[in-house]
Amino acid sequence: MNERRKSENVLLNTALQDFYGAAEEMGLSENQIAILSNSERRLEVSVPVEMDDGSLRVFKGYRVQHSTALGPSKGGIRYAADLNVDECEALAMLMTWKCSLAGIPYGGGKGGIACNPFSMSKREKERMSRTFAARISPNIGRWSDVPAPDMNTGGQEMVWIMDTISKMRGQIEPAQLTGKPISYWGARGRNEASGLGAATCGLELMKALGKDPAKMRVAIQGFGNVGSFTAKHLSSAGATVVAISDSLATYYSPKGIDVNMAFERLCGRSRKEREGVTLDGCEKLGPSDVLFVDCDFLFPCAVQGVLNRDTAPKVKAKYIVEGANGPITPEGDAILNDAGVLIVPDFLANSGGVISSYFEWAQNLQGFFWTEEEHNERLLRLIRENFKRVWDQSQAKKATMRRAAYVAAIQRVADAVELRGNFL
Ligand code: GLU
Repeated sequence: MNERRKSENVLLNTALQDFYGAAEEMGLSENQIAILSNSERRLEVSVPVEMDDGSLRVFKGYRVQHSTALGPSKGGIRYAADLNVDECEALAMLMTWKCSLAGIPYGGGKGGIACNPFSMSKREKERMSRTFAARISPNIGRWSDVPAPDMNTGGQEMVWIMDTISKMRGQIEPAQLTGKPISYWGARGRNEASGLGAATCGLELMKALGKDPAKMRVAIQGFGNVGSFTAKHLSSAGATVVAISDSLATYYSPKGIDVNMAFERLCGRSRKEREGVTLDGCEKLGPSDVLFVDCDFLFPCAVQGVLNRDTAPKVKAKYIVEGANGPITPEGDAILNDAGVLIVPDFLANSGGVISSYFEWAQNLQGFFWTEEEHNERLLRLIRENFKRVWDQSQAKKATMRRAAYVAAIQRVADAVELRGNFL
């Protein structure tokens, strides 16, 4: 047996142990386990940036390509103060399984810059994004590695990166990167896709359990791109959103929150502006209290590791849909499973974003754009099919949805590795 990798980084260690557990149960060969537990490329770059006051700071940037067995590596670029290469590797592995499970022709990648974007001006962020783009550009391209937005990045950052690499290559290359604004080669529907996908997974679970959405109370942690649109789509399906949160507070109302009001008062506002915000009829609690309110469904849509050994025992929800990547640690997962909580895993629940990215890439390659209706119809069809596949397997094998999803996802990648051999 080959040596099993371990990591000090909690997220990477979780990704590795989840993979080994599923791979061993499936009877994957030792060669396949060895190939898939290592990343094809871990790139670290320095990113010198001239700050507005004339000083120079050097940030660290990363891009990890875990696998290209099924196609170009695919995954976001995040800006976060404590980002490191191990975290990028963990998230890149997760993208490999996410794309495989979704049935789209990609491997997995992830990257970003260790920085605090909230303390930087727009000009500083532009200079940083462009220098980062130039440094990682040899590995980026429509048939090699296709980045997208992730935590604290969005359409604007994607345009800076695409524009820089396109200029370096002397031609526009829109399909090298997804999540672009609609006004510049983006796809209709992409912005709401992660939230629409997470909400749809929640609604499909309600359907599978024979529960009426109108009788379900949901709590959503995080009101960024994923959480806000998850709330919007659950609320329009009739569910009662009893709690939402951002990094400053939880807004709680057992009678239900007016999600449109929350959009108006919270979205696109600075931290300072959000400090004084109130929502009519809502009690304002501490930011992590959202995890423990009385509700049926909990959607953690913020950061990794929030449900752990300390917090998991306090959860009242019976169902959890992971909108964020890695919101539950292995200890948290064991506690919740023992308590009979049913969990829809991240790489199924938040796959709406990357499925939509695939649609954007396909449209860019063809230079032909779809309507939002065409986009949403195709997205919902895929998410519902994928949910059903995982649900049916978990029922048939009496396994958790996470394990059933891992087995399906790993098998597709392992088959590609087998076909292509070791020269990958
Ligand atoms: N950052 C998103 C994710 O973690 C989207 C990735 C993509 O579209 O490539 O799934």
